[in-house]
This record gives sequence, C-alpha cells and structure tokens, in this order.
Amino acid sequence: MIGFSYRSGVLHAEGVPLTAIAAAVGTPVYVYSTEALEHAYRAYAQAFEGQDAGVCYALKANSNLAVIRTFARLGAGADVVSEGELRRAMAAGIPASRVVFSGVGKTRTEMRTALEAGIHQLNVESVPELEALSEVASSMGVEAPIAIRVNPDVDAKTHAKIATGKKENKFGIDWDHARAVYARAAALPGIKAVGIAVHIGSQLTDLAPFRAAYTRVADLLHQLREDGHDIRRLDLGGGLGIRYKEEAPPDLPAYADMVRSITGNLGCQVTLEPGRSLVGNAGVLLSRVIYVKQGLHRRFLIVDAAMNDLIRPSLYDAYHAVLPVTEPVSGVEIAPIDVVGPVCESGDTFALQRPLPALAADDLIAFGSAGAYGAVMASTYNTRPLVPEVLVNGDAFAVTRRRQTVEELLAMEERPDWQG
Ligand SMILES: *Cc1c(COP(=O)(O)O)cnc(C)c1O
Repeated sequence: MIGFSYRSGVLHAEGVPLTAIAAAVGTPVYVYSTEALEHAYRAYAQAFEGQDAGVCYALKANSNLAVIRTFARLGAGADVVSEGELRRAMAAGIPASRVVFSGVGKTRTEMRTALEAGIHQLNVESVPELEALSEVASSMGVEAPIAIRVNPDVDAKTHAKIATGKKENKFGIDWDHARAVYARAAALPGIKAVGIAVHIGSQLTDLAPFRAAYTRVADLLHQLREDGHDIRRLDLGGGLGIRYKEEAPPDLPAYADMVRSITGNLGCQVTLEPGRSLVGNAGVLLSRVIYVKQGLHRRFLIVDAAMNDLIRPSLYDAYHAVLPVTEPVSGVEIAPIDVVGPVCESGDTFALQRPLPALAADDLIAFGSAGAYGAVMASTYNTRPLVPEVLVNGDAFAVTRRRQTVEELLAMEERPDWQG
C-alpha cells in the first residue's frame, strides 16, 4: 500500500507512526494518506492524458471532506448519489458544474436542488424519474441536462451485492428499452438528453465486462444518432477493482487504451467515475486489541473496531489485511486466529483463522485497504459513536472528522410527552 510502510519496526502512514495517531485520537480510527490519494488520482489523469476524458470522483466510496478536497485540488469533478453528497462535493470545492448526479431514486427535492446549483448532468434511471425531472425542470424554466443510464446486461463477475449491470439488477434502463426512452426524453419539455451512462458494478478485476458494456454503449450511440439525438457525452461509470489480497486488477494504461479503442472516434466527451480505485488502498482502520480469548477450539483476537465501523467483511465477505502495527520480527511463530469485534452479532468477524503472530491486549493492528466503503458505511449500532477519520500529509496529520460522542447520539432523541 503506497503511503503505508514499516519504519524502524513501526507501521507508519507516510511520516507519521500509527502509534502517535492512536495516542492522540484513540482507536478505532480511520487513517488516510494524502500521498496515496494523490498518487491514485494522478494515475488516472496520466492514463487518460490526450483523451477527452474527465474524472468525477464517486463520493460514496469515501466522502470525508478533506479526501474530496484532495481530489478537488487536482481538478476532479464528482459523482454523487444524494443531495447530501452534492452538498459535500460543493462544500469541498467542487462546483456543481463538475458534478454528475447518479442514483435510482432521486426525489423531486433533490432534482430541484441539483438544477438550482447548476448541475453538470443528471443520470436518469427510469421513465417515472424522467417524467418527474421534466416537471421539476419545466417548473423552474430550465432544461435538465441528462444521460440515461442503460443496463447493458453484462456479467461484471464480481460479488453479487456489488454487481449492477445485469438485467435483473435494479439499475438503469433495460437495454431493449433504451431507444424508446430516449425518444420519450426528446418529447419532454424539461429534458435535454446529452449523454449515455453506464456503470456495471464495483471491484471488477477483469477488463472484459467493461469492454462488453462500452461496446454496447457505442452501438447504442450510433443508433441514437440515427434517431436524431445529439449525444455528446459518454459516462462510463466506475468499478475498477483494487488489490485487497491477491486480486490483479487491470492497470490503468490498459483500461485507458481499451476506452480509447472503443470511444476514441465517437466525438464524445468521456466521464469516468472511479470511487474505490482512488481511495481503497489509501486508508487503514487502526484498532486496538482488547482481549485475546482462548476458546475450546479456536482463539479469538477481540479488537475495539467492529462491524459498525467497517462492515465490508460482514456484508460482502470481504478480505482486509490485518497488519500488526509493531512489525513482526522475521521467523516469529505465526498461528491462525479469528479477528472479531465487540458487537453482539456473530457476523461481527473481520477474519477467520487468519495467520498472525502472537498479539496481546493493547497491541495495535491496522486493517488494510479500508479507504473505500469503510467510514462511509459506518453506523452507530450497539450505540457505538461514529469512528473518527484522520488525514496524513508527510509528517503532519489532522483529525478531519472527530469522534462522535455518546452525548451527541443521545441528544438527537426526544422523550414522548406521555412519558412525562
Ligand atoms: C458506486 C458508483 C461508482 C463508483 O464505483 P467504484 O466501484 O467505487 O469505482 C461510480 N458510478 C456510479 C453510478 C456508482 O453508483
């Protein structure tokens, strides 16, 4: 992981020992590396240099304002899926004119907010949504710039819960309906169809599904132009995978070459919406061992992070490396142990029978590759306050979201009158 390495036997984020962050902020805590974020963004920029292509960072992977601002300063736009994310993007310095609004269930309020802000594009996923958007835009006296998200019916070959491009998924307009929906769009007063959008899933480790989807999009573009639509933008979504364990995702130059080979001559501006591949390997979840428990058949490493802080292992059976913050000396005995959190669910398990060196209460560990779909998916289950986030830059670090307090959690709740 770029940005994270052992120095003098201690795991560091850039120049900062994770022990120092644990001492200052407590655990559990997410720690992100500026260097890793910038490196990931520049890899996209460099791979697509010379193509009419822009990166709209998919905020939902990690919407911490300091993380968004890191990309904003490098010129990124944003892909958002709610009014809240739109407001985050703008708060972090990304103007609405560089924001794409995606998602299957935008409300009229969200549409109005986006149009008032001057959104670059709304990606529409159903006919009722198209009609609602036309009404909202017409009532404001504007035309909404839209792409229709099509469902290319390709198998992304990823975890079922993060595949979005098969016809049985809820996403996009069915392939066979696409032309008719563009015709409907052209007939609506508040709509200006400017693009085609596609996003087939997340954590893809093979180029073939992307190639299949983009080829279908290019075919559709030709048909739509024949039908008289002036389509100038292609939004190719995100989804490029990262290495959590042994995955070998395609490299960006190969991905960019494939995109160029399909879209290079189409006269379209291309938008990429990477999320995970920009942030996933730029963060760790730092946690402290509470107890080591010897069961009858297994040993358990009980740590202070839990499924409410990082749900990916419970939700997607995801693998995260477990890195002892004190570097294991070579030749040390390695034995399997279950790494679990304190939440009252058997699903609160980070790793089963993970080979690890002996660890003791109070030792620190870091869950690797936790920068994407980590903090953003955290909840307060078991009344565990939201976990803080820290951004490191060289020898400096800053708490970019402080730890929520139990008082804050309780303060949101009201006592019903009848309870006196
Ligand atoms: C989630 C999402 C993305 C980002 O996906 P990653 O796998 O994180 O790159 C991009 N576009 C849309 C529409 C999304 O829903």
